Amino acid sequence: MDASFKHDITKYVLQNAIKYKGKANPGAVIGKLFAEHPHLKENAKELSKEVMKIIGEIAKLPLEKQEEKLKEIAPELLEKKEHEEKDIFAFVGIREGEDVVTAFPPEPSKYPHIGHAKAIILNYELAKRHNGKFILRFEDTNPELAQEEFYKIHIDNYEWLGIKPDKIDHASDHMQEMYGYAEKIIKDNHAYMCSCPQETIKKNRQEGNECGCRMMQPDRNLELWKEMFETKAGKYVMRLKGRMQSPNTTLRDPVMFRVIDEPHPKTKKKYRVWPTYAVMDGIEGVTHRLRTKEFELRNELQRLLQTLCGFKETQIYEFARFNLEGVESSGRIIREKVQKKELLGWDDPSLTTLVALRRRGFLPEAIKSFVISTGITKNESVLTWDDLIMHNRRLLDSGCNRCFFIEDPKEIKIENAPEQDVELKMHPDHAERGVRKFKTHEKFYVAEKDYKEFKDGKLYRLMDCINFKRKKHEFVFDSLEYERYKDHGDKIIHWLPAEKDLVKVEVLMPDGKTRKGLAEHAVDKLKENDIVQFSRFGFCRLDKKEKGKLSFWYTHD
Ligand SMILES: [Zn+2]
Repeated sequence: MDASFKHDITKYVLQNAIKYKGKANPGAVIGKLFAEHPHLKENAKELSKEVMKIIGEIAKLPLEKQEEKLKEIAPELLEKKEHEEKDIFAFVGIREGEDVVTAFPPEPSKYPHIGHAKAIILNYELAKRHNGKFILRFEDTNPELAQEEFYKIHIDNYEWLGIKPDKIDHASDHMQEMYGYAEKIIKDNHAYMCSCPQETIKKNRQEGNECGCRMMQPDRNLELWKEMFETKAGKYVMRLKGRMQSPNTTLRDPVMFRVIDEPHPKTKKKYRVWPTYAVMDGIEGVTHRLRTKEFELRNELQRLLQTLCGFKETQIYEFARFNLEGVESSGRIIREKVQKKELLGWDDPSLTTLVALRRRGFLPEAIKSFVISTGITKNESVLTWDDLIMHNRRLLDSGCNRCFFIEDPKEIKIENAPEQDVELKMHPDHAERGVRKFKTHEKFYVAEKDYKEFKDGKLYRLMDCINFKRKKHEFVFDSLEYERYKDHGDKIIHWLPAEKDLVKVEVLMPDGKTRKGLAEHAVDKLKENDIVQFSRFGFCRLDKKEKGKLSFWYTHD
């Protein structure tokens, strides 16, 4: 066997061995070799023998030696390990064997977006990396905001992201416990019942003034607390005795419980007294939590409440909130635009809600690697679609097959083009995925955009097919060889043979516009949700398959 092949065998054996802790898989190595040197298939037997021999030799080397050797002969194949394995949670300082319980607490009132994805992924990852427990908890103690449909939407979206909660909890399932803690705080004289009007409470809090209700004895407060369950909304609220002059305004005797008569989506009319600050981290025994920094001011209050209730303190870490530049993230504005039909819905392709990203063709793994790459920092950074797209493209590039889609097809006749059977690879780097076959002769479809740019005398190539020139308003065959194009050619374009079994295709773009054209018959084999790369156009996810027409959503280029 040729020495240059030995080099290639060795490099792929090393790469695969390093990936799988020392021993390479012959099938994987041979696959890579065939992809790079298709003609080796003729000598498959000999090649296989050689591969087995080299696998045996390499397996004798310790892992570090294998890495050293690969770095020497083919450093491009070495995965950037330091980067990937860097422990982004090192700053939390969790000790070996320490119990870790993390949680993510969405309110079931809106569609989760990529910012929620970051928070849930970080909390989930932290728990998983320490054999801990992760709780998905619905913070649903405001019946005016919680809505039935959103419980399932959140669960589905996070499941799609690959999150498997150890427990799905609802704050509304813990009302009796929360009432118990409320009574304890009242008895300990850390809370009081306030009957001041809402406006007065607000004004006093702004100005740092205590009201007369604060002086009441615990016994009387306990009586009024019990009375509150029967009184009409607004008569009493239960307030924490914080510090009225605290510069942190959340500590200025915040309202802890109030009456809301709106029926709750889960518990219906069972409860009327609802907490504003559920002490769920304490009830669930959450040890660590990573959250966005807009909650920072509440940390002191949370710590105080946990102490008063007798809970172990939850370690809280903040990171900056983020969204992609130019993307609408305000739920209120999105809702308005959906109502005015300026957006298709919460899954409009211009949005970063998880439903939108999913429908466009973003993969959960890409979202995960992207949000982790943004780090756990309090510094706001400007992120763009391109930052996210980079992570997705890396995955789609090797995963998706290629296809020809001709936008606004224009038929051309190339005089004297020979009859041919043309085979195109499904994927340039994965020969094992097979080919698409076309019968071609003189008539082709090309995209109108390409058609308009043809100039007399220039040499063009129909990708992997033929070279041709435009002469006046005619097209004439020039040659077959890529080499001739390479030396004299102007542009390679994609094409379709002008025949009947082409498929009508529509592609919805992120700006809401639809692009139309024809695609090769191979797209008929795609299933809904499959993602394909239309050559020279971009990645597209098949959204809807109808007889005679396929509708795609444009992912990105
Ligand atoms: Zn008062």
